[in-house]
Amino acid sequence: AKRLGHNHVQVYQDSMSFQFKSSAAMRSSLQEAIEKQQLRLHYQPIVRCNDLQVVGYEALLRWEREPGKFVSPSEFIPLAEMTGQIIPLSEWVFRQAFMDAVEFQKEGPRKISVNLSTLHFNRSEFADHLEQTLVETGCKPEWIELELTESILMENTDYAIAVLKRLREQKFSIALDDFGTGFSSLSYLKRLPMDKVKIDRSFIQGIRTHKSDRVLVSSVIKIAQSLDFAVVAEGVETPQQAEFVTELGCNYMQGYYFGRPVAKEDL
Ligand code: C2E
Ligand code: CA
Ligand code: CA
Ligand code: CA
Repeated sequence: AKRLGHNHVQVYQDSMSFQFKSSAAMRSSLQEAIEKQQLRLHYQPIVRCNDLQVVGYEALLRWEREPGKFVSPSEFIPLAEMTGQIIPLSEWVFRQAFMDAVEFQKEGPRKISVNLSTLHFNRSEFADHLEQTLVETGCKPEWIELELTESILMENTDYAIAVLKRLREQKFSIALDDFGTGFSSLSYLKRLPMDKVKIDRSFIQGIRTHKSDRVLVSSVIKIAQSLDFAVVAEGVETPQQAEFVTELGCNYMQGYYFGRPVAKEDL
């Protein structure tokens, strides 16, 4: 939780008072979340640096435990990964995001980014499941970007690369999320079948105060682009940060400065 923005805490202040007594309590509670239809997707705009046009939205999972009170995914996704409940949860996310992607196209061409769960990704039927969900929802893979973290790649790199190749053959695009926070080795970056790199917000937020963050952001943009990956700056909160990454040639931006994640109806 390096330099986790204070805004982040504010957003979820209401849910912070609420604690699970045990992981068993949380487990049955998560089961309820699915059954009682308390899951929601919120969407955050992603803009192009050149002209500030909205090119897509990232789908971010929310658990509306009581009306208007949202539990943050960072509070329940790690546990859901452990109990296996992430599978029905993640299947719900994909179905909903694909249905919403169909609606979003009415605005113009939009890419909807969906976060991958490690457990779901590692199941042998994962790619088939996505294919089937496309058919059921009428969504096109060209409208979807899959966001994966380095931890997915670390576990079994060769297997992960094979799955990513298959997903790209299916015409999904792939983005590497939270870049810079993991075990980022530049040597494997060039082996990865993917389209985009998302620079973690901790580096963007340090741009004004830390020279090391400026150097890192600038180098990541250069290296990623030399490998033909587009670059997204995450967590852009100020016009200065937007200007800085744009001047460095970054391709896309996302962050509170352009819009917080909200329900689709509230965009
Ligand atoms: P992430 O994929 O890195 O998502 C970006 C997080 O940064 C989101 O937190 C978003 O609300 C927050 N954010 C966006 N712009 C700003 C900004 O300008 N400043 C600050 N301080 N924060 C910003 P959120 O929604 O709480 O999600 C946390 C994490 O939970 C996500 O990180 C992702 O790893 C995971 N997650 C969210 N939805 C899903 C999902 O549907 N499936 C899976 N497997 N994981 C999900
Ligand atoms: Ca993400
Ligand atoms: Ca991220
Ligand atoms: Ca993250």
